[in-house]
Amino acid sequence: MVSPAIALAFIPFVFSLLIRYRHYFWLFYRAVLVRCLRDYLTGIPKEDRAFQYIMTHAIPGDPLHILETFDQWSYHCEYLSNLGPQKAKILERLIYEKAPLTVLELGTYCGYATIVMAQALPLGARLCTVEMDARKASVAEKVIRLAGFDDDMVEQVVGPSEEVIPQLKEKYRLFQVDFVFMDHWKRCYLRDLQLLEAHDLLPEGATILADNVIFPGAPHFLQYVKACGKYKWRIHRTSLQYFRGIRDGMAQITYTGLQ
Ligand code: CA
Repeated sequence: MVSPAIALAFIPFVFSLLIRYRHYFWLFYRAVLVRCLRDYLTGIPKEDRAFQYIMTHAIPGDPLHILETFDQWSYHCEYLSNLGPQKAKILERLIYEKAPLTVLELGTYCGYATIVMAQALPLGARLCTVEMDARKASVAEKVIRLAGFDDDMVEQVVGPSEEVIPQLKEKYRLFQVDFVFMDHWKRCYLRDLQLLEAHDLLPEGATILADNVIFPGAPHFLQYVKACGKYKWRIHRTSLQYFRGIRDGMAQITYTGLQ
């Protein structure tokens, strides 16, 4: 049995851990514990609960109001790992700056970043968004259409990215992508970047923006981008969506076409 003296000696250590990692404990509480409890009590998945809120509070056909309503839900009701307003500004600014005509999004989730991009794209641009989870894709489809974007502008593809990317040219008539937004499984970033290269989908000057490269992180992806000589890169330092206390970053990389 541990003596009281030793147990007392550990108290300051436990307190310092609690204080140091309080933001991560709070994230675990909101993103895991509260979600599990509400899933159990309501029998409705969290993305569908969020959509019910969007349906009753957001103005249809108003993309910015739909984004604001998502943020209200995520700040005040339940945590949802949407892009969030801070990162949305970085993404939106880049879309305005690059004015891409073809955009590929990997990881639609609930359609938040899809709407951020779609409302900033130039006329005639096309956005193809890929989500492997059929239930989340169904929520995203409803959100995107509620925001007023039709199938000609935003095409949704349901399937794993490693199967969709090789089919982009023949099946989806997307011959090159000027802008790629990656926000799916972080361990797939490197594989999918190399798939885009292998299928000759990146024109010279193409921009790839990858979210969460600091938290939870994508070290192999960053290592490759920095070492392969094919990309110029920079990190936009920011914080995790809806959690200012947790540092995160988005990697902006530009394909130089050099081998
Ligand atoms: Ca993300």
